[in-house]
Amino acid sequence: MPGYDYDLFVIGAGSGGVRASRMAAAAGARVAICEDSRVGGTCVIRGCIPKKLLVYAAHYRDDFEDAGAYGWESRLPLFDWRRLIANKDKEIDRLNGVYINLLRSAGVELIEGRGRLLDAHRVQVGERSFTAETILIATGSWPFVPPIPGAEHAITSNEALHLDDLPRRIIIVGGGYIAVEFAGIFANLGTEVTIIIRREELLTGFDDDIRIALAQTMRAQGINIRVCENIVRIDADAAGVTARTDTGHDLSADKILYATGRLPLTQDMGLEEVGVRLGRGGAIAVDAFSRTSVPNIYAVGDCTDRMNLTPVALHEAMCFVRTVFQGVPTEPDYENVPTAVFSDPPIGTVGLTGPVARERFGKVDIYKSRFRPLKHTLTGRDEFTLMKLVVDSATDRVLGCHMLGADAPEIIQGFGVALKCGATKAQFDATIGIHPTAAEEFVTMRTKEPDPEAQRLDPVSS
Ligand code: NDP
Repeated sequence: MPGYDYDLFVIGAGSGGVRASRMAAAAGARVAICEDSRVGGTCVIRGCIPKKLLVYAAHYRDDFEDAGAYGWESRLPLFDWRRLIANKDKEIDRLNGVYINLLRSAGVELIEGRGRLLDAHRVQVGERSFTAETILIATGSWPFVPPIPGAEHAITSNEALHLDDLPRRIIIVGGGYIAVEFAGIFANLGTEVTIIIRREELLTGFDDDIRIALAQTMRAQGINIRVCENIVRIDADAAGVTARTDTGHDLSADKILYATGRLPLTQDMGLEEVGVRLGRGGAIAVDAFSRTSVPNIYAVGDCTDRMNLTPVALHEAMCFVRTVFQGVPTEPDYENVPTAVFSDPPIGTVGLTGPVARERFGKVDIYKSRFRPLKHTLTGRDEFTLMKLVVDSATDRVLGCHMLGADAPEIIQGFGVALKCGATKAQFDATIGIHPTAAEEFVTMRTKEPDPEAQRLDPVSS
């Protein structure tokens, strides 16, 4: 576009920003992207990928322990945290290079530095400023630590991935994705883990049976879960940290990790000064097409706080490119987004929980199966798999698919396709299972759970 340096200037080279810039360049746009940290963003540099590598590391403990039941004479080998972190860092460096190359080969100009809006078409990065017809904000989010006395002694997931030594004892605050994932990692690597949550159960918003079952399993693994408790101050000395709770307890550990949510990274960017409206927690307010209150400025990913998952940021980025550079206005679709928690055991879920489905659809049928995985019939490990289906009684459509157990994230990805296609319970039933697997249970569940609504109305006969 004559008059502007670029057709598109992207602020933030994480998942959403990199995808949008590459795809816009492929559509013929002249694109620049700026980044003040490492190209790759939260997911690649300090989130999903390094975390999953640590999850793999942690899982070896179960495998070594279980091997004896299968005839392997084994003792638990020594674990070297520093070697794990060094290998993980090497892989993250490699991926960082891959992302930089992806941008280069797409013809996107990478500008190092923090972007700040000067007006609706002008971005300042360091001493330089650039103009663009369209600007995309994709700055992501950052861990939030509640401002209590001593909060500076806490670490977040950012630092947890770079500790010099494996902590002997750790306190983890919060009961969401990051808290339960790191609890599993540290506990399996041999750290004494205490989780502290302000509610009665972990993982608000997930299926209740799964939340309860995960907590049971984590407790059986030796993780201490303290509920309905808050930390009011943290003190630190050479020995570690001491956290005072609102129930009057003092908890000591080497480290205290806060996993209490993330906030959009939108401060000091000149957003409000140029008219970009911010919403709750500083999230950029956008319309259904990811357009902000300034017509040529768009935003995708965690900085908009819609559904904070990497694949969703990628999807929003693709919809943005289709809308702005391919002439096909496309709204991101947030229905039936599958997601996983890489706890131990992991959770996979897609669609609605029972209570939400009941609110939206009225009567629903619930199918539930709980069993000991075949593998653990020999190991005796006190672990079970839980699966649930939520079905619309009126149409037979499957509205939700939830699983706690080995391979749940891999299994639920496939069922995500089925739900996206609007599969009915009859179609699930008509599908032949793969035997012997855990996944086959999803196509062989025949007995409905008693309807809790009917029980509530007629507690005597039900
Ligand atoms: P979550 O929103 O998942 O969980 C935050 C937890 O912290 C909740 O248990 C919440 O309690 C609690 N909490 C919030 N504020 C306070 C407070 N002031 N005091 C005490 N407890 C508090 O956030 P995470 O940090 O775990 O993860 C951030 C986001 O990153 C996730 O929402 C997810 O979108 C994404 N993510 C996705 C992953 C994946 O796909 N596997 C992995 C990791 C992160 P309450 O329930 O009461 O609100």
